[in-house]
Amino acid sequence: MNFEKFNLHSNISAGVQAIGYTVPTPIQLQSIPPILDGKDVLGLAQTGTGKTAAFVLPILQRLVQGRRGVIRALIIAPTRELTEQTHQAVGVLGRKTKLRSATIYGGVNIQPQISTLRRGVDIVSACPGRLLDHINRGTIDLSGVEVLVLDEADLMFDMGFLPDIKKILKRLPTGRQALLFSATMPDAVRSLANQVLKDPVRVQIGPTTPADTVSHTFYPVETHLKTALLKNILNTTETGPVLVFTRTKMRAKTIGYKLEKSGYDATALHGNMSQNKRQKALDGFRSGRYKILVATDVAARGIDVRGVSHVINYDIPDSANAYTHRIGRTGRACETGDAFTFVTSMDKGPAFSITRVLGNKLKHCVMEDFDTSLPVCERKVVRKSHGVQRNNPNRSAKAKSNTRSRQKNRPTAATRRNTFIN
Ligand code: AMP
Repeated sequence: MNFEKFNLHSNISAGVQAIGYTVPTPIQLQSIPPILDGKDVLGLAQTGTGKTAAFVLPILQRLVQGRRGVIRALIIAPTRELTEQTHQAVGVLGRKTKLRSATIYGGVNIQPQISTLRRGVDIVSACPGRLLDHINRGTIDLSGVEVLVLDEADLMFDMGFLPDIKKILKRLPTGRQALLFSATMPDAVRSLANQVLKDPVRVQIGPTTPADTVSHTFYPVETHLKTALLKNILNTTETGPVLVFTRTKMRAKTIGYKLEKSGYDATALHGNMSQNKRQKALDGFRSGRYKILVATDVAARGIDVRGVSHVINYDIPDSANAYTHRIGRTGRACETGDAFTFVTSMDKGPAFSITRVLGNKLKHCVMEDFDTSLPVCERKVVRKSHGVQRNNPNRSAKAKSNTRSRQKNRPTAATRRNTFIN
């Protein structure tokens, strides 16, 4: 099965070829035909399943004919990074269509957005707050909207955007097509879906659990030893790009800084940074300039970086839903990945919810130097060594050479014992 089945306009097929997609993902196979038929769709899909193209391609197909320079498709998403990601997907997939796309989000000057809107665009990817601002100022005309997409609806709910969404809905024409995508379906999102969608085709890709291509490990650790554990893992594990999650912006900043000072190619991404700096950090991570990105949940939503090999939850996420979203940054589009979660004695609640969702997929790894509380002897122990990597790929050449001279009198990491408990 390939993309020809969808009979997309040749200018759109050219975009699919340019981006290198050959086989549609399951969400694309199930969603594209009903969206092309003009039906409303409720898409329940794990993050990283290819849902952006699942709605962008049929939108391009609809818009390639008809009026230009009027907003005919409105895509609402919770974070700037997600709106940028959608905008970029439209840019690549629709390059030959000459349809114009724009992003709207807060934290940046509104004037350039107003000028872009005045010049006329066809597709807008927006965050709710700034979109409402434009509506209230009268600087956006939504009267021509034919397709509305609510992307990552559960996160919009988590972030308190539902009241804004409801106000925006009142300003949209009736009779439009609506698509709602969500990784999970809490009651508030279900009720939003009932309000927005008419007789929707329901598309569900697997259960709403973390991607199956990811392996999951809990590391019990004392709070004050987390940074040392993180460095130990980075020093002894073969990784590609690594995404480290913290609970607070301040901690993302501090850990990013500490790693950088210790010679790792690391940077931070959090909401206290200017948009410009956020983009630089993200671009640096994408290009490989930084191998480790330390981020908060909100900033990391929408991070689409191919080949993230490890997600490390320095702070455990609050819920199983939040875990699913974080872990969706690795194992994307059927690649494999590892998720490591640091669990302290204060984390029993969220650890329990995540354990319930993961069941027997979850491994526990006790690193003796870091967890002094666990009754190791009572468990079934499966030894497995990470192996010490002398040429740790996560540290820069200069840092490695500094370490070599420091290391002469130190016990080697090989003397540490890593114990996996199933
Ligand atoms: P998304 O869930 O839309 O964020 O997509 C996750 C990743 O899968 C992105 O890097 C997409 O570029 C990629 N992707 C989407 N559709 C396909 C496809 N049909 N074949 C290969 N990769 C894809």
